[in-house]
Amino acid sequence: MRHIIIGAGAAGIQAAQTIRSLRPDASVLVIASDEYVHSRCMLHRYLSHERDEAGLSFVPEHFFEDQKIEQLLGVTVSGIDTGERRVILADGRAFPYDRLLIATGANSFIPPVGQFREANNVFGLRHLKDAQEIRALADPAEKILIVGSGLVGMDAAYAFLEQGKEITVVEMVDRILPLQLDETAGEAYRKLFEAAGCRFLLGKKATETVMNSSGAVETVILDDGTRIDCDLVLVAAGVRPAIECVKDSGIRAERFIEVDDYLKTSCEDVYAAGDVTGIAGIWPNAKKQGETAARNMCGQAVKYEDRYGMKNTMSFYGLTTLSLGRGAVQEGDQVIRCQDSKGYRRAILRGGKLDSILIQGAIDYSGVYQYVIKNQIDLSGIQTDIFHLSFADFYGVGERGQYLYS
Ligand SMILES: Cc1cc2nc3c(=O)[nH]c(=O)nc-3n(C[C@H](O)[C@H](O)[C@H](O)COP(=O)(O)OP(=O)(O)OC[C@H]3O[C@@H](n4cnc5c(N)ncnc54)[C@H](O)[C@@H]3O)c2cc1C
Repeated sequence: MRHIIIGAGAAGIQAAQTIRSLRPDASVLVIASDEYVHSRCMLHRYLSHERDEAGLSFVPEHFFEDQKIEQLLGVTVSGIDTGERRVILADGRAFPYDRLLIATGANSFIPPVGQFREANNVFGLRHLKDAQEIRALADPAEKILIVGSGLVGMDAAYAFLEQGKEITVVEMVDRILPLQLDETAGEAYRKLFEAAGCRFLLGKKATETVMNSSGAVETVILDDGTRIDCDLVLVAAGVRPAIECVKDSGIRAERFIEVDDYLKTSCEDVYAAGDVTGIAGIWPNAKKQGETAARNMCGQAVKYEDRYGMKNTMSFYGLTTLSLGRGAVQEGDQVIRCQDSKGYRRAILRGGKLDSILIQGAIDYSGVYQYVIKNQIDLSGIQTDIFHLSFADFYGVGERGQYLYS
């Protein structure tokens, strides 16, 4: 049985390992545009010179040989012929598959602002190749503009501030880390970043650019007329799933590749996992999807059920924040907040169940929340304060899935 995996990220590598462990004799081929296996979560450490290329790898040195997994790194898949069951590379080569996994992740989205898309000093940060290009320009740069204050933007801001660069962050929302944090939690980080020298321009949009004769953007103009001079622009304004290779293949994909509960696509024997499915754009979920898809490719019938299990941790300047669950407040939700000596916490309850929790400061004893969210436990009627829940509060699960507490 010939298994092909497109992508050597969290999902692809986990899938390859899983297939190998379940099918010691099966043929497994990993094809990826990446030249090296690397963790995207660590790219800011490369920008700050804390790690080199080898230090970004998340597999052992001789992983492919030791696991007897074939690899073709540094090549791009341009198409999939689902009729003939072949994967077609940009260089014209074709490889037949019996089972195929698409784990192509996503690419940075560069909005069509001024000459952002043409300039030679404007980058997204998604692949090692991006980080290499950015670092080459960032090292001699003095002024760096970051567009977008999500996790990728703030990771990069932190890396550059550590290097003594002059950093400006532009964010169209009026607070930082808007998708990950609420106003209170974001404000705590804003103060820490400002103390480190970061300048924020919040509630403003980049609308125009001035490009010099060398093809570099040297000024970015905001919607309120503010002009920011810069040597380099890093755009951290979101990603788009990498679905180009499924074009005309019959595999259903609008913004994401559509998958069923078993992570199977609309085509027989073709699966998808990780950021390309749009289920959750974070590392642990991509890994879990890679494992689940691989199990299904090996004939097990395993559902991917971890749609609530989002987990994200961030830590800047000694302040840690853990967010569990989906995090966006909807109409009818009950939102509970608490600020005390341990830090700040916010819980969102939906229909008596914990949808998400944000814990900033002391994040110990958070395992119970992960369990409660992941299993969508009914907490209605519980007497313990939501921020002081522990496994000791419960002694069993009732017939309807609600917790019975002592
Ligand atoms: C800077 C940064 C920081 C992050 N920090 C965190 C964090 O702190 N915590 C967290 O949970 N998540 C974080 N993430 C998100 C996390 O990295 C992703 O969720 C995870 O990498 C998704 O894994 P994946 O396997 O789906 O895709 P990817 O890791 O993107 O891998 C995709 C693979 O597909 C290959 N590929 C794509 N198209 C083709 C093609 N046509 N042909 C051949 N190969 C192709 C690529 O080369 C790559 O090998 C961060 C992401 C970035 C960019």
